[in-house]
Amino acid sequence: MENINKNIRIIHDTINSMVSRSIELVAVTKTFPSQYIVEALKCGVKHIGESRIQEALPKFEQVGEALKGAKKHFIGHLQTNKAKKAVENFDLIQSLDSLDLAHSINKHALSCQKIQECLIEVKVSGESSKTGISPENVKDFYCSLCKFSNIAIRGLMIIPPLLDDIERSRAYFKQGYTLFNEMKEQNDGFDILSMGMSDDYKIAIEEGSNMIRIGSAIFGSRVYGNC
Ligand SMILES: *Cc1c(COP(=O)(O)O)cnc(C)c1O
Repeated sequence: MENINKNIRIIHDTINSMVSRSIELVAVTKTFPSQYIVEALKCGVKHIGESRIQEALPKFEQVGEALKGAKKHFIGHLQTNKAKKAVENFDLIQSLDSLDLAHSINKHALSCQKIQECLIEVKVSGESSKTGISPENVKDFYCSLCKFSNIAIRGLMIIPPLLDDIERSRAYFKQGYTLFNEMKEQNDGFDILSMGMSDDYKIAIEEGSNMIRIGSAIFGSRVYGNC
């Protein structure tokens, strides 16, 4: 665990050497114990990302007060029946990928009198097995969310397909950035482009990302599961 501080510093230095605009760093703590969240927060991290409700909630409970002031991001696939817990516990749901889910999020947000901030997850890969909205459908999907009074869409989350050659993700990030910019022009409050993970965050930043989600480059490799 002693490398967390150093790894975070390396990422900040890398970002600062690349661009002057601000890039939000989401530390992805999935599969790591709650002490890792505590440690990241001590190092000044302000955003924590988790991808499973049943794993995240007990960990947040253990961390307790130390999470005050930090933002919690849900980044995994969210099942409709877990929407209530997600709304109750997360500041930003990055993985909004269906109308059914939006409906459920809105219903629970209404009942806790919360405006739930979300990103639309865009499936730039075209792989049918992956979750997310296809790029050509994103604008229509966004329009169909207007009717939900308690959802605020802050932007897009882009996940490129897994590629052996990381440089090939660049085209997907470019596509994400173009889409983001077109939508941003027409929508106030549309300001987050979440793209880039441990292996490809530099390319994502070069292509216009303003939020990166980093797990293994901060905490080391994950022992089990990738989601
Ligand atoms: C696990 C995960 C990450 C972090 O991945 P690393 O390669 O460990 O940085 C980022 N985004 C999502 C959606 C993830 O599931």
